[in-house]
Amino acid sequence: MEYTYRQILKWGDKREGKIDPLTIKIIKEKFDLKDSDFETKYLSGLQLVRLEKRSSLKPEQLDFFKSTAGNENVQSDDFSRAKYSCGKFYAELLDLRLNLVPDPPDAVVSPKCYDELLKIVEYCNQERIPVIPVGGQSSVTGALKAPLGGIALDLTKHLNKIEKINTENKTVTVQAGIYGPLLEEELIRHGFTCGHFPQSFEHSTVGGWIAAKGAGVASTGYGKIEDMVVALKVVTPAGVIETKEYPRTAQGWDIFRLFIGSEGTLGIITEATLNIHNYRPKNTGYASFIFKSFEQAVAAMQKIIQSEYGKPHLFRISDPEETDIAFKTNGFDNSFSDKLLKGFGYLPGKRSLIFIAVEGDKDFTKFVLNKIKKTVRKGEAMYIGKSPVKKWLDQRYSSAYMRDPLMDLGIMSDTLETVVTWEKLLKVWAAARTYVNKRPKTILMIHISHVYESGANLYFTFLSPMEKGNEKNDFAAFHKGLVDTIQENGGSLSHHHGVGRVLAPWMEGHLGKQSMSVLGAVKKHFDPNNIMNPGGTLGLQ
Ligand SMILES: Cc1cc2nc3c(=O)[nH]c(=O)nc-3n(C[C@H](O)[C@H](O)[C@H](O)COP(=O)(O)OP(=O)(O)OC[C@H]3O[C@@H](n4cnc5c(N)ncnc54)[C@H](O)[C@@H]3O)c2cc1C
Repeated sequence: MEYTYRQILKWGDKREGKIDPLTIKIIKEKFDLKDSDFETKYLSGLQLVRLEKRSSLKPEQLDFFKSTAGNENVQSDDFSRAKYSCGKFYAELLDLRLNLVPDPPDAVVSPKCYDELLKIVEYCNQERIPVIPVGGQSSVTGALKAPLGGIALDLTKHLNKIEKINTENKTVTVQAGIYGPLLEEELIRHGFTCGHFPQSFEHSTVGGWIAAKGAGVASTGYGKIEDMVVALKVVTPAGVIETKEYPRTAQGWDIFRLFIGSEGTLGIITEATLNIHNYRPKNTGYASFIFKSFEQAVAAMQKIIQSEYGKPHLFRISDPEETDIAFKTNGFDNSFSDKLLKGFGYLPGKRSLIFIAVEGDKDFTKFVLNKIKKTVRKGEAMYIGKSPVKKWLDQRYSSAYMRDPLMDLGIMSDTLETVVTWEKLLKVWAAARTYVNKRPKTILMIHISHVYESGANLYFTFLSPMEKGNEKNDFAAFHKGLVDTIQENGGSLSHHHGVGRVLAPWMEGHLGKQSMSVLGAVKKHFDPNNIMNPGGTLGLQ
C-alpha cells in the first residue's frame, strides 16, 4: 500500500476537517478569498511519501529490534519513518505539504512490554543509537524530530494500560502510552476523573503530558500535570528510576520532578501514578459574563483568584478580537440579544467574554459561583447565563480539526503561549497585539485559560495568508518576531506546550547560563552518551 504526506499531516483521527460556514464568511472577508479559492487545495500533500535520507541502522541492529519486539513492531519503511518524524507544529505540517521530511528516525519500534523496552534502551545506549520517546505525536514544539536518526520508541501501541485505580489513595497508575479518552472512560466507570483535559486530549498520552509539562482546560482548579504526578517509573540509559508513592516528602529534592518537562531527553517515562478526583458532573456550576473591556475582565479575574474563597476549575477570558469572532461564528453577532448588549455599552472591538465552570461538592460550587457573581461589579459586566460556556466546552476539541482545511486555503495558522505575572500581563498582551497587527490581513485571537494568584497565561492563535512561494521563511520570521516580543515584555518561554527544538534557541537567554548548565549536568548524569532525544530539544545538544 502507498501512503501520502496528507495522511501524516492531518490532525487527530485523520478525518478531513471542515470549516463551518460562519467561519468561512469571516475568513473570506478578512483575507479576500473568492469561491474559486475553495475549489483546490493549496500544497495538498497528496503526493506519495518518499524519503531521501536512508536509514543509517546496520542490518544487525534492525535485526536486534525485530528479534526483541517482533517483526510486526518494527517499521523502517518511508511512510512510517516520515510519520514518526514530527508532531503538529505548523512548520512541520508545512514541510509535509512541501514533501519535505528533514529529520526522520531510522526506524519505529513499539515494544510489547516493559522488559523489551528496557532491553532496547540498554542496547541503544551500548550502540549509541538515538532514542526518541513518542506518545500521541501532538507536540507543537518540534520535539519529535530525529536530526541524528535513531529509533522512534512508540509507547502507544502496547504500553497503554491502566495498571491500578487505588480508590483508597485516590490515585491511578498507568502505562505512559495511554491516550486521554481511554484513561478518562475507565476512571469515570469508577466514579473518578483525571482532571487533565488539554485541547489535544483525544490524541495525546499521559507520558506526553508529563514530558511536555502540559495543562488542561480545568487547570485553574485541578492544577497542571506537575501538580497531579505522585510517582514515576523512568527507564534512563543510566538505569531505572522508580519513585515511591507519597503525598509529599522532605527527603531532599523530588527526583521524579526532574522528568516532568524533560521532553524525552533523560529517559522514557514508562509508568505514572497520578492523583484523581471525584467525578460529579451534575454538581458543576457554569457562568458566562461579558465585560465592557479586556482590562476590566482581567481585573475581575485577578480579584476572583486572589479572593481565596475557592477557585473555578475552568476560568477563561477571550480578548476583544477573540470575543468578536466567537460571537460571529456562533451566529450571535447582530442578533436581538447582541443589539441589546451593544445598547448597554458592550461594544465590538472592546468587549470580552469570561467563561467559568466550578466543579466539586454541590454546596462548594454554589458558594463559589455566588461569590464570583458578587465579585464581578455590576455595570462593568453582565451575567449572560450558563449556555455560552457549555456550548464552548461542547465544541472545544473540534476547532483543532479546522487547521488542515485552513492550510488547504493557503492560510498560516498557529499558536503560541506564555505565562506572566499580573503586573506584566496587559503589557505582554498589548505588545503581542501591536506586533501581529503590523502584518496585514491577520487575525489574532488571545485568551487566558490558566489562572494563578500571581498571574496567568496568555494564549495566542494567529491566522494570516501564507506568503506563497516563501511560506517557510515568512512563517519563521513572523514566529520569531512574536516569540521575541513576548520575551522582551516579560513572558515565559512556555506555560504548557514545552520548548522542544522550536523554542530551544531562546532557552539560555531565558534561563541564564547557570540554570542551563544544571540542565546539562542532569542530562549528562542520566544520559552520558547523549542518546535520549538528542539534537537540540530544550537547548541541550
Ligand atoms: C490541536 C492541539 C491542541 C493542543 N492543546 C494543548 C493543551 O490544551 N494543553 C497542553 O498542555 N498541550 C496542548 N497541545 C500540545 C501537546 O498536545 C502536548 O504537549 C501533549 O502533552 C503532548 O502529548 P503526546 O502524547 O502527544 O506527546 P508527543 O507529542 O508524542 O511527545 C511530546 C514530547 O514528550 C516526549 N515524550 C512522549 N512520551 C514520552 C514518554 N513516555 N517518556 C518520555 N518522553 C516522552 C517526546 O519525546 C516529546 O519530546 C496541543 C497540541 C495540539 C496539536
